Amino acid sequence: MTSVATLGSHCALQVLKGAKEEGLKTVLICEKKRESLYQRFPFIDEMLIVDSFKETLDERCQKALERCDSVLVPHGTLVAQLSSAEIKSIKTPVFGNKHILEWESDRKLKERLMQEAGLDIPGAIKDPKDITEPVIVKRQGAAGGKGYFVASSKKEYDEKRVRLVSDGVIAENEELYIQEYVSGVLAYLQYFYSPLREELEFFGADQRHESDIEGLARMPADQQLGSKKTPSFNVIGNSPLVLRESLLEKVYEMGENFVDAAKRLVSPGMNGPFCIEGVYDENAKFSSFEFSARIVAGTNIYTDGSPYYSMLFGEQMSMGKRIAREIRTAAESGSLDKITT
Ligand code: AMP
Repeated sequence: MTSVATLGSHCALQVLKGAKEEGLKTVLICEKKRESLYQRFPFIDEMLIVDSFKETLDERCQKALERCDSVLVPHGTLVAQLSSAEIKSIKTPVFGNKHILEWESDRKLKERLMQEAGLDIPGAIKDPKDITEPVIVKRQGAAGGKGYFVASSKKEYDEKRVRLVSDGVIAENEELYIQEYVSGVLAYLQYFYSPLREELEFFGADQRHESDIEGLARMPADQQLGSKKTPSFNVIGNSPLVLRESLLEKVYEMGENFVDAAKRLVSPGMNGPFCIEGVYDENAKFSSFEFSARIVAGTNIYTDGSPYYSMLFGEQMSMGKRIAREIRTAAESGSLDKITT
């Protein structure tokens, strides 16, 4: 019997609950320190206890996953803790396209795919001396916004960078990515592309609550200016966002363009869940600064089903359950190779 496996963090609860709802066996790769947390949840059939998630690559884990006939569902923790080469070396079938995860982690590849998809991307600034307008300075990979900062000049950039290095947040030689800062309403657009149905679905949208930029925005402007601390964009949680219905057409168009671009650049394409992340400006024009090529934690807000999926499927459907439905359907028709890499 096919099982669904994932790492114990990020959106593991949702993924495994959804798998259980679809009648699949569930396996959690769980760090020893979190064993008691996950034991609270009745839908986890088997736990593979590890000291660190790197052990997912070890023969012991790989063998156990093989024995459970597992499909591994990748999420942000896998991308953050394993290198692209390590992810590609995983022998267990990975749901979606494990090769595209490298395009999520590498800024240059990321930009290429977003350009190919025709997304409107805020400009990148190559050299800090060219900073004349507010920019956001980012780290590579799925850092979750930790260590990001805003600057309006080279001087401010240098000062903040030096401070973050001395605080041990970023490494001295770390290559940072500088991007034009876009103000507006942030929106994280969650999609699912089904290679079985050859169809794109829009699942929902969310907003992120980031510390401590959010706290800073609540202070009066003069106190903000006096604050010595460099605010970070560390994600703490998510809340639902419902878009104006008139924006949906463009949302689908962006998702479809993204799927088409991924098919051209990174075979077999953008299969499974993904997210396009950006900002709506005052004219409701969307600039996209990021994508995630796998399930995002923002879908955790809809564990009992997203509003759009209720309309599409006529039943309560979370992203975890949608993934499991695709796995179950593929397993039943002997086409798991279509939905895994
Ligand atoms: P990212 O890692 O690219 O998803 O960025 C983390 C957070 O930084 C986002 O959730 C936004 O709050 C903020 N952010 C990233 N890029 C931009 C941008 N170009 N303009 C404004 N805010 C941004």
